[in-house]
Amino acid sequence: AKETGKARCVVYSPRQNGPSEHDISLEAAMFQAVREGEFMLHYQPIVDARTREIEGFETLMRWKHPTLGMVSPARFIPIAETNGLINLLGAWALKAACVQLKQFQEVAKRPLYISVNISPRQFRNDKFLDVLDDAITYSGLSGEHLVLEITEGTLMIDPAHAETILGKMAERRARIAIDDFGTGYSSLAYLKRFPISVLKIDRAFIRDLPGSQKDGAICNAVLDLARHLSLSVVAEGVETEEQLAYMRERGCQYIQGYLTGKPMAANVAIAALNERRYK
Ligand code: C2E
Ligand code: CA
Ligand code: CA
Ligand code: CA
Repeated sequence: AKETGKARCVVYSPRQNGPSEHDISLEAAMFQAVREGEFMLHYQPIVDARTREIEGFETLMRWKHPTLGMVSPARFIPIAETNGLINLLGAWALKAACVQLKQFQEVAKRPLYISVNISPRQFRNDKFLDVLDDAITYSGLSGEHLVLEITEGTLMIDPAHAETILGKMAERRARIAIDDFGTGYSSLAYLKRFPISVLKIDRAFIRDLPGSQKDGAICNAVLDLARHLSLSVVAEGVETEEQLAYMRERGCQYIQGYLTGKPMAANVAIAALNERRYK
């Protein structure tokens, strides 16, 4: 009865852009999916813009539902964020990704890094630092090989709290990347306030390169800013050689996109690492 009450409350929620009835059934399916182990992780290479060597991987969650097929994280992450399941899923992803990186490092015989998305709710959770420590300790990973991706929005909800958490992350030598950089509503002041290491330029600014003058100007400004603040930059969603060349020529160090590697299962990532090693 409690479950039904909860669902109804969501269904008749008056707030705009609230969950659809379809989301409600998806939500129920998600709890089932956790029990059935339908969630898994894929890994997308982040490569050096010049050499195309794999420097690290971004962890991207996947859900393979027995009848719905692959459900996009763009659909299920917001639901998990609303119902709190993200804390469980996120903790699992962080730990599994750290363990997986150890294996990648052994195969590659060099210090790759792993980049993990942290949602706003996960970041604000009381247990977050415990979850982080557990992942590092359990995997035996060095914190310096871990990058945590957060958005501008996550920092802005409660900047004082964010400052504390980021300080604790820095103590563990984990690096912070700003995901979807430039798409939020925040001021640039936070780049001064918080210990940030990486800016990830959103695909929205890369997609229309090299044709779009405006996107070019924005990318140049971000690269300039990053240089002066000693931050690294990852260009996201690079799909063409022209986009890669454009960004590389303007000093962008790192590239992530379908051109240099789609998100892939761990065994495929290992094959990619092996292939490069023996070339
Ligand atoms: P994001 O963090 O911005 O991740 C990048 C998205 O761009 C991924 O979509 C990736 O597959 C896609 N992508 C990468 N290269 C290209 C490209 O060249 N072209 C195009 N069109 N797309 C590209 P995906 O895997 O569907 O994930 C969507 C979003 O879901 C992510 O956006 C992230 O916000 C969220 N997400 C995924 N996994 C996790 C997770 O483990 N935890 C949390 N909190 N969020 C996650
Ligand atoms: Ca990301
Ligand atoms: Ca992104
Ligand atoms: Ca994005």
